[in-house]
Amino acid sequence: MHGPVTDVHVHVQPWEMIRPAVMAAMRRGRDDLAEIERCFADPGALLAHMDRQGVERMVLINYESPDVMGFSTETNDWVLRYTKGREARLLPCVGINPRFESDVRGRAERLADGGARLFKVHGPHMLVSPNDYLGAWPDLRAVYEVASARRIPVMFHTGSSIFKGARTKHGDPLQVEDVGIDFSDLDVIIAHGGRPFWTEQAFFLLRRFPRFHLDLSGIPPARMLEWFPKLEEIADRVLFGTDWPSPGVPAIAKNLAAVRAMPLPADVLERFTSGNALRLFPSR
Ligand SMILES: [Zn+2]
Repeated sequence: MHGPVTDVHVHVQPWEMIRPAVMAAMRRGRDDLAEIERCFADPGALLAHMDRQGVERMVLINYESPDVMGFSTETNDWVLRYTKGREARLLPCVGINPRFESDVRGRAERLADGGARLFKVHGPHMLVSPNDYLGAWPDLRAVYEVASARRIPVMFHTGSSIFKGARTKHGDPLQVEDVGIDFSDLDVIIAHGGRPFWTEQAFFLLRRFPRFHLDLSGIPPARMLEWFPKLEEIADRVLFGTDWPSPGVPAIAKNLAAVRAMPLPADVLERFTSGNALRLFPSR
Protein backbone atom coordinates (compact mmCIF):
# COMPACT_ATOMS: atom_id res chain seq x y z
CA MET A 1 0.00 0.00 0.00
CA HIS A 2 1.20 3.47 -0.89
CA GLY A 3 0.75 6.56 1.28
CA PRO A 4 -0.77 9.77 -0.08
CA VAL A 5 1.42 11.26 -2.82
CA THR A 6 2.42 14.92 -2.93
CA ASP A 7 3.74 16.41 -6.18
CA VAL A 8 5.75 19.35 -4.82
CA HIS A 9 6.36 21.01 -8.17
CA VAL A 10 3.47 21.70 -10.53
CA HIS A 11 3.02 24.75 -12.76
CA VAL A 12 -0.64 25.61 -12.51
CA GLN A 13 -0.42 29.29 -13.33
CA PRO A 14 -2.47 32.06 -14.94
CA TRP A 15 -1.64 31.23 -18.57
CA GLU A 16 -3.47 34.36 -19.74
CA MET A 17 -0.48 36.35 -18.42
CA ILE A 18 2.19 34.34 -20.27
CA ARG A 19 4.25 36.09 -22.94
CA PRO A 20 3.68 34.84 -26.51
CA ALA A 21 7.13 33.27 -27.04
CA VAL A 22 6.87 31.36 -23.75
CA MET A 23 3.33 30.28 -24.54
CA ALA A 24 4.43 28.94 -27.92
CA ALA A 25 7.07 26.79 -26.17
CA MET A 26 4.42 25.56 -23.69
CA ARG A 27 1.95 24.55 -26.41
CA ARG A 28 4.33 23.07 -28.97
CA GLY A 29 3.79 19.43 -29.92
CA ARG A 30 1.46 18.24 -27.19
CA ASP A 31 -1.94 16.59 -27.23
CA ASP A 32 -3.15 17.34 -23.68
CA LEU A 33 -3.85 21.09 -24.01
CA ALA A 34 -7.61 20.79 -23.62
CA GLU A 35 -7.21 18.87 -20.34
CA ILE A 36 -4.65 21.38 -19.06
CA GLU A 37 -6.89 24.32 -19.90
CA ARG A 38 -9.83 22.67 -18.15
CA CYS A 39 -7.70 22.19 -15.03
CA PHE A 40 -6.35 25.73 -15.05
CA ALA A 41 -9.83 27.21 -15.39
CA ASP A 42 -11.38 25.08 -12.66
CA PRO A 43 -9.70 23.71 -9.50
CA GLY A 44 -12.40 21.03 -9.34
CA ALA A 45 -11.22 19.70 -12.70
CA LEU A 46 -7.64 19.69 -11.39
CA LEU A 47 -8.68 17.61 -8.37
CA ALA A 48 -10.34 15.09 -10.70
CA HIS A 49 -7.17 15.03 -12.82
CA MET A 50 -5.10 14.39 -9.67
CA ASP A 51 -7.37 11.49 -8.71
CA ARG A 52 -6.78 9.95 -12.14
CA GLN A 53 -3.02 10.46 -11.84
CA GLY A 54 -2.78 9.02 -8.32
CA VAL A 55 -1.79 12.24 -6.56
CA GLU A 56 -3.34 13.45 -3.32
CA ARG A 57 -1.70 16.88 -3.03
CA MET A 58 0.06 19.36 -5.29
CA VAL A 59 2.18 22.41 -4.62
CA LEU A 60 1.27 25.00 -7.25
CA ILE A 61 4.36 26.97 -8.18
CA ASN A 62 3.83 30.66 -8.93
CA TYR A 63 6.17 33.63 -8.89
CA GLU A 64 6.53 37.13 -10.29
CA SER A 65 8.40 37.33 -13.56
CA PRO A 66 6.70 40.06 -15.57
CA ASP A 67 9.53 40.70 -18.05
CA VAL A 68 10.65 37.11 -18.84
CA MET A 69 7.55 34.94 -18.33
CA GLY A 70 4.77 37.54 -18.14
CA PHE A 71 3.64 36.77 -14.58
CA SER A 72 2.79 40.01 -12.78
CA THR A 73 2.52 40.39 -9.03
CA GLU A 74 -1.16 39.39 -9.46
CA THR A 75 -0.01 35.79 -10.10
CA ASN A 76 0.52 35.41 -6.35
CA ASP A 77 -3.02 36.51 -5.56
CA TRP A 78 -4.29 34.31 -8.38
CA VAL A 79 -2.90 31.12 -6.82
CA LEU A 80 -4.26 32.00 -3.36
CA ARG A 81 -7.69 32.49 -4.95
CA TYR A 82 -7.42 29.31 -7.03
CA THR A 83 -6.61 27.13 -4.00
CA LYS A 84 -9.17 28.74 -1.66
CA GLY A 85 -11.35 26.15 0.05
CA ARG A 86 -9.21 23.30 -1.31
CA GLU A 87 -6.13 23.94 0.80
CA ALA A 88 -5.94 20.34 2.01
CA ARG A 89 -4.96 19.19 -1.50
CA LEU A 90 -3.82 22.32 -3.34
CA LEU A 91 -0.89 24.10 -1.67
CA PRO A 92 -0.17 27.58 -3.03
CA CYS A 93 3.40 28.63 -3.74
CA VAL A 94 4.14 32.32 -4.30
CA GLY A 95 7.24 34.21 -5.38
CA ILE A 96 8.15 37.82 -4.72
CA ASN A 97 10.50 39.48 -7.17
CA PRO A 98 12.46 42.27 -5.45
CA ARG A 99 13.02 43.91 -8.85
CA PHE A 100 9.33 44.79 -9.00
CA GLU A 101 8.29 45.13 -5.35
CA SER A 102 8.78 48.22 -3.19
CA ASP A 103 7.71 46.50 0.05
CA VAL A 104 9.04 42.95 -0.07
CA ARG A 105 8.59 42.30 3.64
CA GLY A 106 5.03 43.58 3.72
CA ARG A 107 4.13 41.51 0.65
CA ALA A 108 5.72 38.38 2.13
CA GLU A 109 3.80 38.83 5.40
CA ARG A 110 0.51 39.37 3.57
CA LEU A 111 1.00 36.33 1.34
CA ALA A 112 1.88 34.21 4.38
CA ASP A 113 -1.26 35.50 6.12
CA GLY A 114 -3.19 34.60 2.97
CA GLY A 115 -2.12 30.95 3.22
CA ALA A 116 1.07 30.66 1.12
CA ARG A 117 2.76 27.31 1.84
CA LEU A 118 5.98 27.89 -0.10
CA PHE A 119 8.05 30.77 -1.47
CA LYS A 120 9.72 30.31 -4.83
CA VAL A 121 12.88 32.05 -5.99
CA HIS A 122 13.20 31.32 -9.70
CA GLY A 123 16.52 33.02 -10.42
CA PRO A 124 16.67 32.47 -14.21
CA HIS A 125 13.10 33.84 -14.67
CA MET A 126 13.19 36.55 -11.99
CA LEU A 127 16.71 37.62 -13.03
CA VAL A 128 17.73 37.61 -9.37
CA SER A 129 20.28 35.31 -7.75
CA PRO A 130 19.45 33.45 -4.51
CA ASN A 131 22.20 35.34 -2.65
CA ASP A 132 21.44 38.78 -4.10
CA TYR A 133 20.40 39.93 -0.61
CA LEU A 134 24.18 40.36 -0.20
CA GLY A 135 24.43 42.47 -3.34
CA ALA A 136 22.02 43.90 -5.88
CA TRP A 137 18.71 43.18 -4.09
CA PRO A 138 19.06 43.59 -0.30
CA ASP A 139 15.26 43.34 0.15
CA LEU A 140 15.39 39.67 -0.83
CA ARG A 141 16.53 39.07 2.76
CA ALA A 142 12.99 39.85 3.93
CA VAL A 143 11.61 36.84 2.03
CA TYR A 144 14.01 34.50 3.86
CA GLU A 145 13.37 36.15 7.23
CA VAL A 146 9.60 35.95 6.92
CA ALA A 147 9.80 32.37 5.63
CA SER A 148 12.07 31.37 8.52
CA ALA A 149 9.86 32.99 11.15
CA ARG A 150 6.68 31.43 9.70
CA ARG A 151 8.23 28.00 9.05
CA ILE A 152 7.45 28.27 5.33
CA PRO A 153 10.02 26.58 3.05
CA VAL A 154 11.72 28.38 0.16
CA MET A 155 12.23 26.62 -3.18
CA PHE A 156 15.06 27.60 -5.51
CA HIS A 157 15.13 26.76 -9.20
CA THR A 158 18.58 25.33 -9.87
CA GLY A 159 19.89 24.36 -13.28
CA SER A 160 19.05 25.54 -16.78
CA SER A 161 15.90 27.03 -18.26
CA ILE A 162 14.92 26.91 -21.91
CA PHE A 163 12.50 29.81 -22.11
CA LYS A 164 13.32 32.90 -24.16
CA GLY A 165 14.99 35.54 -21.98
CA ALA A 166 15.77 33.19 -19.07
CA ARG A 167 19.31 33.63 -17.68
CA THR A 168 20.61 30.33 -16.40
CA LYS A 169 23.50 31.88 -14.43
CA HIS A 170 20.97 32.72 -11.68
CA GLY A 171 20.30 28.98 -11.34
CA ASP A 172 23.77 28.05 -10.10
CA PRO A 173 23.09 26.12 -6.88
CA LEU A 174 26.30 27.34 -5.23
CA GLN A 175 24.55 30.70 -4.81
CA VAL A 176 22.19 28.98 -2.38
CA GLU A 177 25.13 28.15 -0.10
CA ASP A 178 24.99 31.69 1.31
CA VAL A 179 21.32 31.15 2.18
CA GLY A 180 22.18 27.91 4.01
CA ILE A 181 24.84 29.69 6.03
CA ASP A 182 22.95 32.91 6.77
CA PHE A 183 19.47 31.42 7.39
CA SER A 184 20.19 28.18 9.21
CA ASP A 185 16.54 27.79 10.39
CA LEU A 186 15.14 27.98 6.88
CA ASP A 187 13.79 24.89 5.13
CA VAL A 188 15.12 24.96 1.57
CA ILE A 189 14.12 22.97 -1.52
CA ILE A 190 16.66 22.63 -4.30
CA ALA A 191 14.44 22.16 -7.34
CA HIS A 192 15.80 20.00 -10.18
CA GLY A 193 19.07 19.28 -8.34
CA GLY A 194 21.04 21.67 -10.56
CA ARG A 195 20.44 19.58 -13.65
CA PRO A 196 21.93 19.08 -16.14
CA PHE A 197 25.39 20.46 -15.33
CA TRP A 198 25.41 21.43 -11.63
CA THR A 199 24.26 18.20 -10.00
CA GLU A 200 27.50 17.71 -8.03
CA GLN A 201 27.28 21.22 -6.61
CA ALA A 202 23.66 20.64 -5.65
CA PHE A 203 24.45 17.36 -3.90
CA PHE A 204 27.33 18.97 -2.01
CA LEU A 205 24.88 21.49 -0.52
CA LEU A 206 22.30 18.80 0.23
CA ARG A 207 24.84 16.88 2.28
CA ARG A 208 26.16 20.00 3.97
CA PHE A 209 22.85 21.53 5.11
CA PRO A 210 20.40 19.30 7.00
CA ARG A 211 17.42 21.53 6.15
CA PHE A 212 18.02 21.34 2.41
CA HIS A 213 15.70 19.11 0.37
CA LEU A 214 15.95 17.81 -3.18
CA ASP A 215 12.94 18.10 -5.49
CA LEU A 216 13.17 15.44 -8.20
CA SER A 217 11.19 17.39 -10.80
CA GLY A 218 12.77 17.78 -14.20
CA ILE A 219 15.22 14.93 -13.62
CA PRO A 220 14.39 11.82 -15.68
CA PRO A 221 14.04 9.00 -13.10
CA ALA A 222 16.05 6.68 -15.38
CA ARG A 223 19.07 8.97 -14.99
CA MET A 224 18.56 9.86 -11.34
CA LEU A 225 21.14 7.51 -9.84
CA GLU A 226 23.64 8.32 -12.55
CA TRP A 227 23.47 11.99 -11.50
CA PHE A 228 22.92 11.31 -7.78
CA PRO A 229 24.61 7.97 -7.04
CA LYS A 230 24.45 8.60 -3.27
CA LEU A 231 20.80 9.66 -3.26
CA GLU A 232 20.01 7.27 -0.40
CA GLU A 233 22.24 9.28 1.94
CA ILE A 234 19.62 12.04 1.90
CA ALA A 235 16.61 9.70 1.71
CA ASP A 236 14.65 11.69 4.32
CA ARG A 237 14.96 14.89 2.27
CA VAL A 238 14.01 13.84 -1.25
CA LEU A 239 10.66 15.03 -2.61
CA PHE A 240 8.67 13.78 -5.58
CA GLY A 241 7.88 16.53 -8.11
CA THR A 242 7.08 16.55 -11.80
CA ASP A 243 7.16 20.09 -13.24
CA TRP A 244 3.87 19.24 -15.02
CA PRO A 245 2.78 20.58 -17.50
CA SER A 246 6.11 22.07 -18.60
CA PRO A 247 7.33 21.20 -22.12
CA GLY A 248 8.60 17.63 -22.44
CA VAL A 249 7.31 16.52 -19.03
CA PRO A 250 5.43 13.18 -19.14
CA ALA A 251 2.06 12.66 -17.45
CA ILE A 252 2.25 12.68 -13.66
CA ALA A 253 1.17 9.03 -13.27
CA LYS A 254 3.90 7.94 -15.68
CA ASN A 255 6.49 9.98 -13.78
CA LEU A 256 5.31 8.52 -10.48
CA ALA A 257 5.54 4.96 -11.82
CA ALA A 258 9.09 5.66 -13.06
CA VAL A 259 10.17 6.97 -9.64
CA ARG A 260 8.63 3.92 -7.96
CA ALA A 261 10.59 1.73 -10.37
CA MET A 262 13.97 3.19 -9.35
CA PRO A 263 16.37 0.53 -8.00
CA LEU A 264 16.09 1.61 -4.36
CA PRO A 265 14.38 -0.06 -1.37
CA ALA A 266 10.58 0.31 -1.40
CA ASP A 267 10.51 2.13 1.95
CA VAL A 268 12.98 4.72 0.62
CA LEU A 269 10.88 5.34 -2.50
CA GLU A 270 7.80 5.65 -0.30
CA ARG A 271 9.52 8.42 1.65
CA PHE A 272 10.30 10.23 -1.62
CA THR A 273 6.71 10.13 -2.87
CA SER A 274 4.80 10.47 0.40
CA GLY A 275 6.37 10.69 3.86
CA ASN A 276 8.95 13.42 3.35
CA ALA A 277 6.44 15.88 1.89
CA LEU A 278 3.93 15.16 4.65
CA ARG A 279 6.61 16.17 7.15
CA LEU A 280 7.73 19.31 5.29
CA PHE A 281 4.16 20.35 4.39
CA PRO A 282 2.01 19.01 7.25
CA SER A 283 -1.74 19.15 6.73
CA ARG A 284 -3.27 22.17 8.44
ZN1 LIG B 1 9.41 24.26 -12.50
